Amino acid sequence: MKITRLEVFVIGDGPEIDPDKGGVEPLACLRVHTDQGLSGLAEVFRVPPGVVQATVGNRETHFGKLLIGQEITHPGRLWQLVWDALMHTNRRGWEIIILGALDVAIWDIYGQMLNQPVWKLLGGVQRGPFQTPVGSSPVVTPYCTLVSDVWGGEPMFRQQTDRATHLASLGYRAFKVEPMMCTPEDVVELARRFRRELGDQLTLMVDVGYLFNDVPVAARVCRQLEELDIFFFETPFPVDSPIPWAKLAAQTSIPLAMGEHGVTRWEFLDMMDRGQVNVVQPYMTTCGGLTEAVRIVELAVPRGAIVCPGNWSTQILGAASVHLAAWSPVSPFIEFAAAEVFDSPLRTELQQAGFPVRNGEIQLPESAGIGYQLPEQIVKAFALP
Ligand SMILES: [Mg+2]
Repeated sequence: MKITRLEVFVIGDGPEIDPDKGGVEPLACLRVHTDQGLSGLAEVFRVPPGVVQATVGNRETHFGKLLIGQEITHPGRLWQLVWDALMHTNRRGWEIIILGALDVAIWDIYGQMLNQPVWKLLGGVQRGPFQTPVGSSPVVTPYCTLVSDVWGGEPMFRQQTDRATHLASLGYRAFKVEPMMCTPEDVVELARRFRRELGDQLTLMVDVGYLFNDVPVAARVCRQLEELDIFFFETPFPVDSPIPWAKLAAQTSIPLAMGEHGVTRWEFLDMMDRGQVNVVQPYMTTCGGLTEAVRIVELAVPRGAIVCPGNWSTQILGAASVHLAAWSPVSPFIEFAAAEVFDSPLRTELQQAGFPVRNGEIQLPESAGIGYQLPEQIVKAFALP
């Protein structure tokens, strides 16, 4: 079976969408086609669609030149083929994110070719009986990321806790509040409000979105958060230097988390080792694909770290996260932007087409490949140039 064609199309809620409010900004998706009629699907989060359209296509394009005509084999071979060809190009950023999306699409084809869901081809469920509470069966658990239309103060507390209350009533069990662009006092207060209004049983994470550059201030915030049972504290600092991360990690019992923009296993390795980050959050495309995400898990295991796949995009990407977490021995949660609380018709449609969440859990998918079936009418209704 050979790759014959790379196709790119763009969907979105509209041309001018603020993704921080939950809408889907113009999003390039790609399909890898084969001569046997099978095709694989992926999306390319946060890469300007024009960049994807310019580099993924016929044999004259950057990626078409490398992949068209290639035999479908284990995706690791095709990943390595592309990676080696990029030795003298930028090897980070958009180029690797697009490689990551192509890798996910190739895994989708590979699974269909072998008639197996991708998580089984990764090795099946790797959480053994010693890591699993007696009586529970393996599932994937989404945590809901909460944002608000305004940052700071009462309106932020109200909107995020209201959204959590609604989602908890639907069965979701884990939540990440997002006190961003606000004061240190507001960070602590939002987490307190969550606990006061939603109780102690739900899992709570806190993401401050690169709010600090001052280690002592971040450490003081963490000390105040510690009594609230915080599962992880995400992106206190920019990720350019691991030094503040390591300093903060030495001063708090709350695990630090990062990785939404992490590209290649090497960036994760550095933040785990020099930065003492204990929760890494690769996006299944951004990090360099499922092939690279597996390597990130394999680096996290011997370091005592965990991997919670990030996804502030749609359930096209989320479907790949489900397969990684189904296999991974160290992935208790995947990130989930629940469409139920955002004003986004496209997000809603794409979630409904994806793996269902019931009682806060996603069952391990049994369909071959990644198994996300994108309805053609969604592509038509939300098509953007
Ligand atoms: Mg974040």
